Amino acid sequence: MCEFCRIIDREASARIVYESENVIAFLDIEPIHEGHVLIVPKVHEASIDKIPEVMLLDVIQTAQKVVNALRELYGTDGYSIMQNGGRFCDFGHAHFHVFPRYENDGFGFIYPEGEKECSDAVAEKLRKKLMENK
Ligand SMILES: [Zn+2]
Repeated sequence: MCEFCRIIDREASARIVYESENVIAFLDIEPIHEGHVLIVPKVHEASIDKIPEVMLLDVIQTAQKVVNALRELYGTDGYSIMQNGGRFCDFGHAHFHVFPRYENDGFGFIYPEGEKECSDAVAEKLRKKLMENK
């Protein structure tokens, strides 16, 4: 059983801040900023395409509650939400990072080297695939 499933089952400890039928939220043990929370759907899946829609809705509603609380507690300038899926998902169990952001806090994306295309052809290819998969 993975660490997050163990937290859900109360076999491992965590600093739980919120729980519902579908999700559990607790403090990240290596926070980017104080108040960094992980929101974890209560199903052991590594990718959001495998998670029931009702759970994903609960994830984003929980993120909204967390963002509100962080703003009120810390006077944040904003927030970031991140989720790494598939083989990039630690523990193989999807989790959504929600953490406070501040002006010039030093956090940012690191882009891989190489050319990337942002074109009408890319948009058309993706639009067609999304329509097919509807
Ligand atoms: Zn799990």
